[in-house]
Amino acid sequence: MSTIFKQIIDREIPAEIVYEDDYCLAFKDINPQAPVHILVIPKKEIASVAHAKDEDKEILGHLMVKSAEIARTFGIEESGYRLVTNVNNDAGQSVYHIHFHLLGGRKMNWPPG
Ligand code: 5GP
Repeated sequence: MSTIFKQIIDREIPAEIVYEDDYCLAFKDINPQAPVHILVIPKKEIASVAHAKDEDKEILGHLMVKSAEIARTFGIEESGYRLVTNVNNDAGQSVYHIHFHLLGGRKMNWPPG
């Protein structure tokens, strides 16, 4: 069954897209937890990093490099940011299509809640 993020990739539902290339898409989170809260996702449907295979190494690396570029674009490189991916229930994963949360623009707590 296709996830809500696949529907965003296919333009079946709208999103505020901030970056796109052949392999990934980045858009603003609908329920932002920080002044900058962007979701960076692969176009390939992979449920979570727990489901990633050796053949996905390149795409996962691509997501991280592009996340850093997007952070630069949003002016949070120097102040700092957090790049988070949740896996399964204890981490609070709600959409089973890999996504990196790019969060910034405010001071973060550690350890996370
Ligand atoms: P997770 O809880 O799986 O780590 O993160 C899922 C994220 O997707 C949440 O932060 C949630 O706000 C966001 N989200 C869920 N549905 C939509 C949607 O339809 N559009 C956008 N832009 N974000 C969504």
